[in-house]
Amino acid sequence: MRILIVGGGTGGTILANNLARRLASEIRDRKVRLTMLSASDKHMYQPGLLYVAFGQMTPDQLYRDQQSLLEPGIDFHVDPAEEFQLDHNKVVTKSGKTHEYDMLVIATGSRIVPEQIPGMAEGADTFYSEEGAVKMFKRLREIEEGTIAIAVGVPHKCPIAPVELVFSLHDYFTAKGIRDKVKIKYHYPIGRIHTIANVATWAKPEFDRMGIEYETLFNVKEVDAENKVVRSEEGTETKYDMLIAIPPHSGMDVVEKNNLGTGGWIPTDRHRLTMEGYDNVYVLGDTTNLPVSKTGSAAHFEAEVVAENIASIIKIGIPVRDYDGKVYCFIETGHDSATHAMFDYKNPPDLKPSSKPMHWFKMAYNQMYWSSVRGLL
Ligand SMILES: Cc1cc2nc3c(=O)[nH]c(=O)nc-3n(C[C@H](O)[C@H](O)[C@H](O)COP(=O)(O)OP(=O)(O)OC[C@H]3O[C@@H](n4cnc5c(N)ncnc54)[C@H](O)[C@@H]3O)c2cc1C
Repeated sequence: MRILIVGGGTGGTILANNLARRLASEIRDRKVRLTMLSASDKHMYQPGLLYVAFGQMTPDQLYRDQQSLLEPGIDFHVDPAEEFQLDHNKVVTKSGKTHEYDMLVIATGSRIVPEQIPGMAEGADTFYSEEGAVKMFKRLREIEEGTIAIAVGVPHKCPIAPVELVFSLHDYFTAKGIRDKVKIKYHYPIGRIHTIANVATWAKPEFDRMGIEYETLFNVKEVDAENKVVRSEEGTETKYDMLIAIPPHSGMDVVEKNNLGTGGWIPTDRHRLTMEGYDNVYVLGDTTNLPVSKTGSAAHFEAEVVAENIASIIKIGIPVRDYDGKVYCFIETGHDSATHAMFDYKNPPDLKPSSKPMHWFKMAYNQMYWSSVRGLL
């Protein structure tokens, strides 16, 4: 049995390690071969980018060697997939190698596409990339007064990040003693301040308490970098001194090029996590088209379901578990406090009051992530 995993990020790594443990004896007896293809020999802890943007972490702290995170039974190659021949159970890589499989898992993640909005790439800062986060911190340090505008593109991964950004900005300028000279204006594409209704209800009084201005139904149309103005599809505009964007995202190019899904999002069965039309192809993480937040935690829970099902198919011939849409998010709320939210397809999040222990738990999790991707948590 040949299992091929394409993508060595959060979802792919948790899946591979989980499978390697469940199928240890089959791998040892050469009845199962577990191969991973990825685009990089490094693994980045992406949530750390927000800390880099505020000078609380440096980029090198976000990386580990991918090989060091993998169980010994996993055959790992830095050789990105280029061609998916799903009707022939084959994947061809950049180096020209063909990998045949019995079961395939696609976990190639997503990417930012600021270029989809005129002027955004040139005019806005962002913490959604390493380079962007470092640049954003340097720019923040220069600000002494003025308007910081926040613009949110859709879809984007980590839906909580725009709210965390607001809390972090408020804290940053308060600590610098210039909060009264800096206006923070938040713009959000739908008719409330967050896509998840309970998060919007919880965040609104917090924004009011911090003196955050907000405009809802603001879908970014263009950024006029020269005049420092961001305009909406709805016909409004905001003048800014610094614009911080959460750019829109798409799936990876390779998904689109191989016609696996529109916009890079692969049609995925919401419970079985198989690709529509292919029972031996699983999809997990950001690249699914599932109606769940594009988060590491969703990728984690999905990976556990896929690992259990692949192992049980090999051992007893049938899958044993359904994915229930589970997502868990920490929410940093400033002043060394945080809250958290758990939700799934059926149950909306129920936000608890912020607390300092939850913030310190998140700080600990920033390190525990490396145990988590090894499949130990
Ligand atoms: C600023 C920021 C803050 C975030 N905060 C949180 C948070 O607080 N909580 C949370 O749960 N999530 C958070 N996330 C989101 C989280 O990091 C992602 O949702 C998660 O990493 C998705 O996992 P994935 O496996 O789908 O994709 P990734 O982890 O992005 O992995 C994709 C992998 O695919 C590989 N790849 C790409 N193309 C190919 C190819 N052609 N062939 C082979 N391999 C390929 C890449 O090299 C990479 O290894 C945050 C993200 C950002 C940017």
